[in-house]
Amino acid sequence: MKELIKIDDVEKYYGNGTNITKAVNRVDFQVDKGEFIAIMGPSGSGKTTLLNMIATVDKVTAGHIYYENVDITEMDDDALADFRRESLGFVFQDFNLLDTLTIEENIVLALSLRGVEKKEIEKRVNDITKRLGISKIRDKFPYEVSGGQKQRCACARAIVNNPKIILADEPTGALDSKSSQMLLETFQIMNEELKATILMVTHDAFSASYCKRILFLKDGKIFYELVRGEKSRREFLNEILDVLSLAGGEGSND
Ligand code: ADP
Repeated sequence: MKELIKIDDVEKYYGNGTNITKAVNRVDFQVDKGEFIAIMGPSGSGKTTLLNMIATVDKVTAGHIYYENVDITEMDDDALADFRRESLGFVFQDFNLLDTLTIEENIVLALSLRGVEKKEIEKRVNDITKRLGISKIRDKFPYEVSGGQKQRCACARAIVNNPKIILADEPTGALDSKSSQMLLETFQIMNEELKATILMVTHDAFSASYCKRILFLKDGKIFYELVRGEKSRREFLNEILDVLSLAGGEGSND
């Protein structure tokens, strides 16, 4: 598969003098196009810091991050803002939908702002809302739908722009187990049918078991990697729980 992102010896330190926290400590890995990858690790292991650097909202202390061979650590803030808008899609734990806009308006907002043609917008929204099972709630407001539906709307908003990658930070964090499962199945559809590349940060083994590959972080370093391959999701989940117990971290099987 073709390389999309290269994380090259990335470090992020907080503090100074003798009081330094190595939040991310010399991390190397790559993400290929079409991957569905999870970054797992206990609280404080550096997951969010790493994701924020990949998402261009936080700067590296040292090292480089390349998207298709372009070094984003060398870009200025304006270029980064453009890059973020055009190339990245986000799904957050707390949905980040605008309450005064309908589900459909939330999904198309970024496209409208970019001046994409109305017909093209309509075609994309029809297609995506149908694929994600939310076409019936397009005219509702966020407060009128469930948490799971809100999160699928956030997924539709993330993918409608055809981003290079979708970045998700604990996307099931605010959902009950049934809605979590539906969201993870939505991610699977986005990855397998809509060919989206997805990178998800989670501390939850059940969520990670839907991915194709998992990187485990501990104390700011990658200490293990698992690839699902031909394994069933249940087998993969057991493997993940084994790694977590080795690492002494949290795991959940709900
Ligand atoms: P995780 O997402 O795995 O819970 P974080 O990336 O949030 O971990 O944090 C990694 C480490 O860096 C922790 O020790 C945390 O306290 C520290 N850290 C994160 N952000 C800051 C900050 N803005 N200032 C100081 N320390 C921070």
